[in-house]
Amino acid sequence: MRLLTCLLYSMLCLWATATVVQAKTPSDEASIAIAIHAGAGTIPRDNMNEAREHAIRTTLEEAVRAGHAVLEGGGSAIDAVTAAITIMEDAPEFNAGRGAVLTSEERVEMDSSIMTGHDLGAGSVASVRGIRHPILAARAVLEHSVHVMLSGRGAEAFARDRQLEFMPEEWFHTEFRREQLREIQGEENAQAATDPGYEENWFSTVGTVALDRKGNLAAGTSTGGMTNKRFGRVGDSPIIGAGTYADNNSCAVSATGHGEYFIRHVVAYNICARMMHLDETLQQSADHVVNKLLVEDGGTGGVIALDAEGNIATPFNTAGMYRATIDRDGNVSVKIYKDE
Ligand code: ASP
Repeated sequence: MRLLTCLLYSMLCLWATATVVQAKTPSDEASIAIAIHAGAGTIPRDNMNEAREHAIRTTLEEAVRAGHAVLEGGGSAIDAVTAAITIMEDAPEFNAGRGAVLTSEERVEMDSSIMTGHDLGAGSVASVRGIRHPILAARAVLEHSVHVMLSGRGAEAFARDRQLEFMPEEWFHTEFRREQLREIQGEENAQAATDPGYEENWFSTVGTVALDRKGNLAAGTSTGGMTNKRFGRVGDSPIIGAGTYADNNSCAVSATGHGEYFIRHVVAYNICARMMHLDETLQQSADHVVNKLLVEDGGTGGVIALDAEGNIATPFNTAGMYRATIDRDGNVSVKIYKDE
């Protein structure tokens, strides 16, 4: 009898110890983290005007904090992604929503996509006009359609059905983008014969990757594409796997850069796939794709990437990338240049 009591007592102690070890204190809660970008490029520091730089840094911080606040409040990664991106879409400094770049016909045509890592849910819109927040249209495709990608007039009709907000064409236009178009068209005319590879200096597409308390990842990207693009041209941003990807088993990625290269190298998925199949860390796989594969091919740009443990990587092969992060320890960082 005594032996039995002793045995029962020991079992009880073991059970209690195990329970204590497993019990979660608030500090053990799953990590949250977020990273955003608003484009990569080669603008030299001297060419950056002070007021513009201030506006860019302020909006980056506002957007990353807005996304983080969602995560902190227990919100989902996809809600954090849309919270940060809608702010950047409204900011005239960035190439998404208001302030998007212009096509060769001086129109705004936007691309956007979003993906959730727990279920590989994906939605995207391409070549849309007039939608104030293309990221919300992409999200509506994910949540309210049986499709992954809608384009042009069909995507706009769908957005209207979902009662998304539309703005007149002029609302999207800024003098900065008109000037950029005039410049590039002038330079292209002058350079066309000698330098068909002429590229825009700065890609300011926006994107966000987020990790929520449930351990779910999400990624989203929104853009006007590239200045002076042909109408109907679709870049990497709305293409799941190229500009955007999220999978809880590996990582979430949003890209910015010369889209044609990012499509060919399936950049966002490539980074996640390397993690899964080659057992590389997030930093290793993101570096390999951005600083080796793309560089060898002449593809300029960068990515923000985040894994399920909250590690963040933000490699780019240009002189700078507008970016901001709040890591799992709550550290906030807002940066533009490589040497910051
Ligand atoms: N990747 C975008 C595109 O090619 C451009 C950008 O990142 O700004 O459409």
